[in-house]
Amino acid sequence: MSDDINYLPEMGIGLDADASEYAAARHEHLLRNDPARYAELVSNVTAYGIYMMDADGYILSWNKGAATITGYADREVLGMPQSKAMGEMEDPSGVLQRAMHFARLNGYCREVQTRYSRNGRRYFAQITLDVVRNAEGEITGFIEVFSDITEQKEREDSLYQRATRDALTGVFSRGHFVEMANMEIDRARRFGEPLSVAMIDIDHFKAVNDTYGHAAGDKVIIALAQAVAGFIRKIDFIGRIGGEEFALLLPRANKEPALEVAQRLRLILAEKSVDIGDATINFTVSIGVAALRPTTRDLPDLMRNADAALYKAKREGRNRAEAWFE
Ligand code: GH3
Ligand code: MG
Ligand code: MG
Repeated sequence: MSDDINYLPEMGIGLDADASEYAAARHEHLLRNDPARYAELVSNVTAYGIYMMDADGYILSWNKGAATITGYADREVLGMPQSKAMGEMEDPSGVLQRAMHFARLNGYCREVQTRYSRNGRRYFAQITLDVVRNAEGEITGFIEVFSDITEQKEREDSLYQRATRDALTGVFSRGHFVEMANMEIDRARRFGEPLSVAMIDIDHFKAVNDTYGHAAGDKVIIALAQAVAGFIRKIDFIGRIGGEEFALLLPRANKEPALEVAQRLRLILAEKSVDIGDATINFTVSIGVAALRPTTRDLPDLMRNADAALYKAKREGRNRAEAWFE
């Protein structure tokens, strides 16, 4: 086997057990025979931050990758506590301490942490923190390997947003609303809790489009979604289930409180004016409410009942909220 340092990058992570044992053996071999070059190699890695700490979390070594990601040069952090280099001066959220504690118990800790660079940039770090032991098996320190996965995470988040949110209004898409509502119904049934759904439809919306144009109509739809989202409780959620139709899920709310919410919402929306530049648009909505009952089969059944109540509200003159009666 060659000692040539250039073989190192081919080794390591992601190989099968035999191969990684082989790689580990080669690392040890190199470390024993040429520790200076080995240290230099680690020090020059740029894609990953790699550094050592003593048992109390004080930094002992600092490679190029760590300096690039954090913005701290080695002279600024050597001998300092880890929190100094991770933008968490006192580690107020305790994430660093928790990771260290976990590693002490389990040998390592692998997770994503939110950190801050020297110039205050927030980034997501994928970290692996391993304990270092002496020959007696006592923990003498830690070694952490970390990388900046902010771009990847933002890409994933935006894909998730696109998959679960309605593009025009930013509230839940129909599919995501259905998925979340089904979970809430299961939960309500398991714990014997009430739950209601409210269907909201803008009154005479075709007239809005006809008078002011489609773009103005879109603005009204956005304003409605924002007003509802701003009004509801944290545990409630709203989805856009059709052009100018929204569904509101109200966990832990029976028919009466749900109807009360619907009435307040209707009044708030009726007061709202939407500015479209050369005019302001006022609009009203009709709302139908239905509560989950032992006889309700499933979400479509519940939404059908709310729709029937909505239809009643329309029939009885619009700008109304009605509850479904069996
Ligand atoms: P009603 O009081 O009975 O609800 O009358 P309405 O005119 O609102 O009737 P309906 O709810 O059936 O019509 C909805 C209209 O909304 C039809 C369609 O042209 C319009 N619409 C649907 N999606 C959008 C959208 O994304 N943007 C805009 N601007 N208009 C939309
Ligand atoms: Mg309508
Ligand atoms: Mg409609």
